[in-house]
Amino acid sequence: MRVAVIGYGTAGQATAILLARAGHDVDVFERSPELQPVGAGFLLQPTGLGVLDALGLREAVLARGQRIERLHGTNASGRMVMDMRYAELAPGLFGLGMTRGALFDLLHRTCTPVARIHAGAEVTNVDASGRVQVAAAGGALRFDLVVVADGSQSRLRAHSGLLVRDPPYPWGAMWCLLPAEGWAWPHELRQRYAGTRTMIGVLPVGARPDTAPDTRWLTFYYSLPGTAVDAFDAGALAAMLTQVARLWPELAERTHHLTDPAQLRRARYRDVHLRTPWSGRCVFIGDAAHGMSPQLGQGVNMALLDAQALAAALASHGDLGAALAGYARQRRKHVAIYQSLSRWLTPLFQSDQLWLGSLRDALFAPIGRLPLARTQMLRILAGSKRGWWG
Ligand SMILES: Cc1cc2nc3c(=O)[nH]c(=O)nc-3n(C[C@H](O)[C@H](O)[C@H](O)COP(=O)(O)OP(=O)(O)OC[C@H]3O[C@@H](n4cnc5c(N)ncnc54)[C@H](O)[C@@H]3O)c2cc1C
Repeated sequence: MRVAVIGYGTAGQATAILLARAGHDVDVFERSPELQPVGAGFLLQPTGLGVLDALGLREAVLARGQRIERLHGTNASGRMVMDMRYAELAPGLFGLGMTRGALFDLLHRTCTPVARIHAGAEVTNVDASGRVQVAAAGGALRFDLVVVADGSQSRLRAHSGLLVRDPPYPWGAMWCLLPAEGWAWPHELRQRYAGTRTMIGVLPVGARPDTAPDTRWLTFYYSLPGTAVDAFDAGALAAMLTQVARLWPELAERTHHLTDPAQLRRARYRDVHLRTPWSGRCVFIGDAAHGMSPQLGQGVNMALLDAQALAAALASHGDLGAALAGYARQRRKHVAIYQSLSRWLTPLFQSDQLWLGSLRDALFAPIGRLPLARTQMLRILAGSKRGWWG
């Protein structure tokens, strides 16, 4: 088939590679004139690592990433709120912290030889018949299949007839990379919470493609209301640094070199729900189909799982409609579980409901000690594909 992939984030990159390798003729359209990753780093779950393994990239990602064995969160008075270890779910299981640049670079090198990538090519319209309107090109282009992977702020989604809702979350975050040298918890995602209005996180994420391989990095993120993210300025930076120094003195040693708001990136997210992810010749994947709050650390993971499921469905059905329906069925349960969890759990960490913070601090740790609940919490963390009790 002639396939158009719209968007060159993780979902678009992985899909382009898998479909090109399956023998399809793939064109990728990316709005940005420069092909580059956006943001600092992320936590890859074991299920997403499985997809990279299938792409032949396991050793390369392990070399560039940082093994994460534990998620550890405390409140402002040092009370344990969260303490989960992957190995409790299965011995040897781990997550992988990665810089955005490292994963982007690996997928880019794998994609370039097999697909045509058009940078600076914003798609302004797609339809179910396979028509793709690229801003720079004169007329519309026609494809047998259009894979829309244009992210959580997708503009193409609104005209698809598939959208149920995609409201912005009222909260967001500022984030950046910090040097990891000497960091005391190189294999832990650490978070510190003060009520529901302040959350600070540090995730070791390994190497960047543009610095020496043995220079390792941390992703630092700081939660803020969405309006404060949009208005983040020198005063907000100073307030953030004061709060970091108060809540996490060991971290403040690393953040004092942040002197300009431009050193941090803004992150806003949406709660995206589609009736179904496909129509005719057009399918939505990744954040474009199911963007959510990053609280559960699953978005990159899900983008990879989407790409793998789509390639598998196309390989096993001769008819395009049957393949896309099969893809939607395959992904529905997993996506729905994380959409619900994300909607319920995010306010416990990011909201103006201060009582939810007290509830979280009082209940999370004791509930997490109950064996059945603990297993479920670990499965959720690890991005389990089998749903609640599978
Ligand atoms: C602060 C934060 C922390 C996160 N942490 C984690 C984590 O720890 N683990 C995890 O798994 N996930 C995490 N996520 C979520 C994860 O980043 C996303 O879910 C994932 O990157 C989505 O990938 P995507 O390819 O669907 O979309 P994107 O990466 O957004 O890519 C979309 C691409 O489409 C392009 N595009 C947009 N519109 C057009 C158009 N009209 N024409 C052409 N191109 C277009 C964009 O330029 C972009 O390159 C986090 C997100 C945030 C904000």
